[in-house]
Amino acid sequence: MRISKLFGKTQREIPAEADTISHRLLVRAGMIHQVAAGVYSYLPLGWRVLKKIENIIREEMDNAGGQELSMPVLQPLELWQETGRDLAFGQSLFTLSDRRDRKLALGPTHEEVITGLVSHNVQSYRDLPLLLYQIQTKFRDEPRPRAGLIRVREFTMKDLYSFDTDEEGLDQSYNKMLQAYRNIYDRCGLPTLLVEADSGAIGGKDSHEFIVVAENGEDEVVNCDDCQYAANVEKAQSLKEKIEGGQPLPLEEVSTPGMATIKEVSGFLKMPQNRTLKAVFYIADGKLIFVVIRGDLDVNEVKLKNALKSTELRMATEAEATAAGIVAGAASPIGITGLKVIADDSITTATNLVAGANKPDTHLKNVNYPRDFKVDLIADIALARAGDGCPECGGKLLSTQGIEVGHIFKLGTFISQKLGALFVDQNGQSHPVIMGCYGIGLGRLLAAAIEQNHDDKGIIWPLTIAPYHLYLCSLYLENPQVVAAAENLYADLVSQGLEVLYDDRNESPGVKFNDADLLGIPVRVTISPRTLEANSVEIKKRSEKEPQLVPLEEAATRLKELITRGEN
Ligand SMILES: [Zn+2]
Repeated sequence: MRISKLFGKTQREIPAEADTISHRLLVRAGMIHQVAAGVYSYLPLGWRVLKKIENIIREEMDNAGGQELSMPVLQPLELWQETGRDLAFGQSLFTLSDRRDRKLALGPTHEEVITGLVSHNVQSYRDLPLLLYQIQTKFRDEPRPRAGLIRVREFTMKDLYSFDTDEEGLDQSYNKMLQAYRNIYDRCGLPTLLVEADSGAIGGKDSHEFIVVAENGEDEVVNCDDCQYAANVEKAQSLKEKIEGGQPLPLEEVSTPGMATIKEVSGFLKMPQNRTLKAVFYIADGKLIFVVIRGDLDVNEVKLKNALKSTELRMATEAEATAAGIVAGAASPIGITGLKVIADDSITTATNLVAGANKPDTHLKNVNYPRDFKVDLIADIALARAGDGCPECGGKLLSTQGIEVGHIFKLGTFISQKLGALFVDQNGQSHPVIMGCYGIGLGRLLAAAIEQNHDDKGIIWPLTIAPYHLYLCSLYLENPQVVAAAENLYADLVSQGLEVLYDDRNESPGVKFNDADLLGIPVRVTISPRTLEANSVEIKKRSEKEPQLVPLEEAATRLKELITRGEN
């Protein structure tokens, strides 16, 4: 491809709206263009990268036994109502009405559609197992589209669904996909962490995410220094040590004038924060929920939402809490009635705690559960943090930021049961098909590859997903020998099947080299009057500093070798 003809221009200015490295570099390299918040066009260079990622994914899905098909973006909303997932997705689900006022949704995922398809085509255990996938456009009405291709509202996704007759089969399908995903990231030159992930309120057995470590990543991973334990913070557990408070003592009311926060109360009463009880208020599906947790811990809202099996959860406002009879700064589960109370399991391993007294400026000492108050539900709803103990080995937990680039999930029978996707076993008995689902967002993977592979000059594409293998640069075009040599080499390289971006513009060496670095093509090949004097071309890898001279007549062969070897 000649750059003089290429659609899309590089730009030097840093786009004001771009908040991450990949976003800035993609816009500056002329690879993407924003159409609306979280909605992008891919220009030819960006599209080539996306297609390469797509091909790698397709090959690995096919190798694992997947069969590709295509399902519609436009889906009847009824299908979503049948599984109740219209509510679970809430406002993230794009919905619309047709001219007859029938409600439709733009698919954010395809479990409903594919389960319907499978129930039409599968009758017997002999029809299973199945691995079915598509690579297709999805829509999610994200509340906060950001970071360029990382959080968008329209995106290309590979989604595969597995269908099995039993748990053992599901485990096998899951492991096949886990390996296929590892292969995909390896081939894309992208190191990932495999971490335990939240499976949501609908349950399901195992769920894992693949995370690319990145400073600006919006996912937090909690991982152990000493063992393999790693989990998304939404799911992560940590050791909650027993707090020694001695034998339960009688309740004692104390005056705490002006002390409202845990920090203030614990300081005033000279009690460590882990000897206090914190009350926090949420609105879950419209109802006020009283949450109790040890004062040194924080509530994990994902765990709380799952424990409550709620679809919408948010912090209650002070006005909402007051309206329910809560005394701000001195709220307590003791004596509270008419509210649902949920407690973190940390309250069961501590004695003689300090809690509010439901009276202004007053707290209670020596509060003990269950002697002094009852709760409706006890669960692990605490946020694991760096420095906490590892739930597996007791080691120290660390925290890492990253970008989720893949999610695999043992879904079970939640959807197949609701949609009546059944099979008949060897004994003539009917059962719901057991499902798994496995997704990769292609654009996000592309962006994550840049977050991992760049320097201050631009992108450094891994060879396998680079838009072109070679950046051929001819300098000082007023010299006809340069033009002739570059044209010849270009034709030669293309005829050998190499992908060449040929900078044939009449621009200065500075402009050309800057663009070569910005675009991140793995190998730069330069022809100039100086290299021709030595009857050579200059070859420089994007990932290395020093160029080398190679005889002109050997250049095509040497470059072919270099690219075929596949080193970056
Ligand atoms: Zn550990």
